[in-house]
Amino acid sequence: MARCAGCNKIMFGGVERDGLRYCNDGCADAAAIQSTWSDIPEDLVVERARDILNGPCPECGNHGNVDWHTAHYVWSFLVMTSYKSTPRVCCVGCARRAHIMATLSNVCFGWWGFPWGLLMTPVQVCKNVVGLARCGASDEPSDTLRTIVRTELAAALHQRLRTATAEQQALEQPAE
Ligand SMILES: [Zn+2]
Ligand SMILES: [Zn+2]
Repeated sequence: MARCAGCNKIMFGGVERDGLRYCNDGCADAAAIQSTWSDIPEDLVVERARDILNGPCPECGNHGNVDWHTAHYVWSFLVMTSYKSTPRVCCVGCARRAHIMATLSNVCFGWWGFPWGLLMTPVQVCKNVVGLARCGASDEPSDTLRTIVRTELAAALHQRLRTATAEQQALEQPAE
């Protein structure tokens, strides 16, 4: 029985990449992106993250202080409670609005379920309050934003390496 070198699940068949076997191309790609992850220079990550930080907000178009923010929601109805955390890249103004709207929504709709509504509403409200307190103007991109930028750069680098390898192989094929 074989295990995938990426996700470690038991698999049948699968694909081979650089001498290792993976359950599918997705897993092989994910593993390759993981391995290019640490090759990305920190300077480049910070530079790209600063571009996002000082660039336009995807939600309102205002420039400056664009970073990664997460608003936390909870809704309940009788015995049903659902909650979620919605991450977004936006400016401080949009983030504050999102935290406030989420808090109002939680206070209105969070409680009405037993037991999870009663338990989760204060948790989600606290997370929004903490988020609201933390989202101030900052000159430096957050760790989360840097992590996301690094992932995107690693994925782009991996894509470029794959294209280069495919071109190399095409060149090495004898012309017919
Ligand atoms: Zn896998
Ligand atoms: Zn905005």
